[in-house]
Amino acid sequence: MSSNIRIMRICQQCGKEFEARTTVTKTCSDACAKRAYKARQRSAKIEISTNQVKEEKTKPIEDLRQYEFLTVEESARLVRISRRSLYRLNERGELPFVKLNRRTVIRRSDIDRLFDRPAELLEKARVEPVPLAECYTMKEIQQKYSISDKALYELIRRNEIPKQYSGIYAYVPKSRIDQLLATPEE
Ligand SMILES: [Zn+2]
Repeated sequence: MSSNIRIMRICQQCGKEFEARTTVTKTCSDACAKRAYKARQRSAKIEISTNQVKEEKTKPIEDLRQYEFLTVEESARLVRISRRSLYRLNERGELPFVKLNRRTVIRRSDIDRLFDRPAELLEKARVEPVPLAECYTMKEIQQKYSISDKALYELIRRNEIPKQYSGIYAYVPKSRIDQLLATPEE
């Protein structure tokens, strides 16, 4: 690859300008070539470990099924819902979390059990909190629909409408209430 053309290059290692002897020379000296080589080795190693992490995260779902305990991350992938949804299921007492040392893990059998429940359970866990501006307080519902305390309580319970709390007030999504009360129930 020798040539008579003078090629001025910037050393990729030290940044100095040098006269390259071949068209593929990238460094100004043997010392820089060695350093550049070591740097490449290092980044190759980093790339390998990055790939290992990636592999870990994209482990086929079939593999996950063989473990008795799963991390929250793995569980979320197994059932294809967000980690937040899993935390919500946990908060509602639907899915126990197990603390092993400092790690939170979930028994796979407990995850399997979720699927014995009504199918909409997971769907409901997906529901993001509704902005309070899009919610009614109990009093607002009673004023709007002239419904008794007891009837309202029953309606919310029977339809499993999620309540949110802010201060002393409980809030429920307007859309759910309107859907139930604005049109007559069967
Ligand atoms: Zn150099």
